[in-house]
Amino acid sequence: MIAGGRSRVLLMHPILDPGPAILAEAAEVISYPPDRPLDEANIRQAAEGCIGIVSQLMDPIRETVLSSPGLRCVSNVAVGFDNIDLAAATAHKVMVTNTPGVLDDATADFAFTLLMATARRVVEADNFTRSAGFHGWAIDMMLGQDVYGATLGIIGIGRIGRGVAHRAKGFNMRVLYYDPQPLPQEAEQQLNATRSSLDRLIAESDFISVHVPLTKETLHLLSTAQFNAMKRNAILINTSRGPVVDEAALVEALKARKLAGAGLDVYEREPAVHPQLIPMPNVVLAPHIASATVRTRSEMSAMAARNMATAVRGGRPPNLVNPEAKR
Ligand code: NAD
Repeated sequence: MIAGGRSRVLLMHPILDPGPAILAEAAEVISYPPDRPLDEANIRQAAEGCIGIVSQLMDPIRETVLSSPGLRCVSNVAVGFDNIDLAAATAHKVMVTNTPGVLDDATADFAFTLLMATARRVVEADNFTRSAGFHGWAIDMMLGQDVYGATLGIIGIGRIGRGVAHRAKGFNMRVLYYDPQPLPQEAEQQLNATRSSLDRLIAESDFISVHVPLTKETLHLLSTAQFNAMKRNAILINTSRGPVVDEAALVEALKARKLAGAGLDVYEREPAVHPQLIPMPNVVLAPHIASATVRTRSEMSAMAARNMATAVRGGRPPNLVNPEAKR
């Protein structure tokens, strides 16, 4: 709080309507200079005198930033918050909020989009057709994998994982899931999903879709041993966070044909993409757009702004992930 003035909030990146108006009603909004590097020292400097920071997943919000005097809330415009050191935030009594729920359908839709596109070689086929490669129907042209009736392994059956299982029902897929948190029995029946060990899921699935948060436990959850154990026709879909998959190991496994392909929305060192993935025709690559629909990104912006506005007014933000930090 500035003496005699309004509370200040640092907006790291532009957000969509109606987010800006919600923020402006609650606080004086300072925009992060667009040309300034996104490192901790620069963010700390920009956050000087601010009660809140509205951040996004590329912003490293750790000890240096979280120890800023007067900082009370970091509102992340994302459901994942692995860019924020939660323990340090709680220690400094800085509330952290996220945007769960509003992006489930858009993200599950996109996981399924990548699954279909990779299985049926849509990007490769589009490039082929545009580059005048189509000279007539051929019985063996661009053969792909069956989706209907195949086995889908879902790693992490939270909000988005359940959304993917729900879509898989329409494709008559057998669903195996791996999650330390079992689904209630009626949800298993309704989604036609069977709980499994990670090993069994990997050995039996034609498609494996990853929906876990990035944590110490899920870092490189899929690496060489898991790729070696996959079916040779298996396709990996990752719309969670890049470091959940050991990208270098994935490249080696794809080269050795340990699995058939991958559909990736996220990368280990974003925005860098492993250079050896680029020329692979059996890999579909997207620039972290799983939640990118007009409605979803607008709702995420509004939700993040509302979380911040509530914190600025001294209330408990609706999507608080560390309640221990509330003073
Ligand atoms: P959620 O919390 O509802 O579900 C996560 C699930 O993973 C939970 O059921 C949890 O029990 C499970 N899990 C945790 N650790 C696990 C482990 N070691 N092994 C197996 N399962 C484990 O989260 P959500 O809303 O479904 O989102 C999941 C993740 O997807 C987010 O954390 C985010 O990183 C990512 N995401 C990415 C995009 C994108 O644009 N690509 C969009 C939305 C979400």
